[in-house]
Amino acid sequence: MRDLVEDNLKAVRRQMELACQTSGRSIKDVQLLLATKTVPLEKLQMAIHMGETLFGENKVQELRGKFPLMHQDNQVEWHFIGHLQTNKVKDVVKFVTLIHSVDRLKLGQALHQQLVKENKSIDILVQINTSYEESKFGAPPEMALELVEQLSQFETLNVKGLMTIGKWNATKDETRQCFRLLKLIQTQIRKAKFPRVDMDILSMGMSSDFQVAIEEGATIIRVGTSVFGQRYLPDGFYWNENVRQDD
Ligand SMILES: *Cc1c(COP(=O)(O)O)cnc(C)c1O
Repeated sequence: MRDLVEDNLKAVRRQMELACQTSGRSIKDVQLLLATKTVPLEKLQMAIHMGETLFGENKVQELRGKFPLMHQDNQVEWHFIGHLQTNKVKDVVKFVTLIHSVDRLKLGQALHQQLVKENKSIDILVQINTSYEESKFGAPPEMALELVEQLSQFETLNVKGLMTIGKWNATKDETRQCFRLLKLIQTQIRKAKFPRVDMDILSMGMSSDFQVAIEEGATIIRVGTSVFGQRYLPDGFYWNENVRQDD
């Protein structure tokens, strides 16, 4: 199993370099985040052994389980990439350095309230539903500008950029359009020059489409399956279309 994670990681790293080459970008400008949902600790330790330091979790409960075991290693950094319910913000702000999935004002408010109590701040990305698929979380693209402006008024939240999930089972071109749309929204927000808003991070691209995402300007790609293998739970468990947006 060790060999498998090792080989997979080397392959992904190679593909990242190739995508950077074809798009004239520096590999230093693209970070690999390993998506760890359902992945046993053993495999995560192999990735750490290989020098990986950035991990992303979807569920607060799994984060709670893995974090204490992995935090002895100070190099390791956790991000939160899943749908976040307002009643779960407490643990998240305790464990992670960046939340990729802030997609509504109500969540921003809940985070702010918790952070004020703890007298700290946190970095966030605003998640945009660039594919307009109902099963995906994220603010509608038309709402992006307004939402970023609203979120930026909470002094405990540092807006650092945008996140999206590209369209699946789609042609390469359709997926590319999602990433281009995110880039376009980034440009629009930069033009608006909101105080305290930083648009340096674009979190986009997963196992099936990270090369395209790199070509379109991703600064963080989030990869699970290509490194750790197939998951035993369907993604619907994590991206449940039945969860209410305001939960
Ligand atoms: C699971 C997940 C990923 C990684 O997906 P793979 O297809 O396994 O690479 C990326 N982003 C989010 C938000 C995820 O939930």
